[in-house]
Amino acid sequence: MKRREEMSFLERIYVIEVAKGVVLTFGRLIRNFTLHVFHLFGLKKNIAAAASIQYPNERRPYPTRFRGRHRLTLHNDGSVKCTSCFLCATACPARCIYIEAAEHSDPNVEKFPHRYEIDTLLCIYCGYCVEACPVDAIRMDTGIHPQVYPADPRLYIEDKETLMERSKLLETYGPQALFADHMKRMQDLEKKPFDS
Ligand code: SF4
Ligand code: SF4
Repeated sequence: MKRREEMSFLERIYVIEVAKGVVLTFGRLIRNFTLHVFHLFGLKKNIAAAASIQYPNERRPYPTRFRGRHRLTLHNDGSVKCTSCFLCATACPARCIYIEAAEHSDPNVEKFPHRYEIDTLLCIYCGYCVEACPVDAIRMDTGIHPQVYPADPRLYIEDKETLMERSKLLETYGPQALFADHMKRMQDLEKKPFDS
């Protein structure tokens, strides 16, 4: 597309352009306000008005393939499935997965993550870690989006216990309860944004 380099005289004095912007903005405002009033009385339902989502009290449904916050999957006995192979950390383009491997007390298990952390402030939610894992030990199927915390960057780091707990909650209460808990936290945060 070729952009016009020179502004016309009317554009350079701005007044006309500002007036056009004001007319456009107020035109939309009045149109949407009128439509919302009509909708309240059951009229003009076939014409959509601009919708605002009152987040965090409301939300749009996410698509089923939405990549949400991570979780570490578990064996039936509640132990972590991760074998500390480091493939997820190697595949991660943001270098935000930190793993410390340790020897397992069970001789049949080679090693396990003594420490497993994801710095979600750096994470770009690409899902490469999930694709790289050979044992399905990490997933992003929680349906919940990243949480907004106060300014301390350390609060964005999710440790192994948090990631495992998310799997337990998902299995025990289901995704709706997980999301309800997440929304409650977001609402509390909105009420008191400076409380950590
Ligand atoms: S989603 Fe992407 S950026 Fe985030 S931890 Fe996984 S691989 Fe790294
Ligand atoms: S989560 Fe999967 S890919 Fe990452 S270290 Fe554990 S087993 Fe390996």
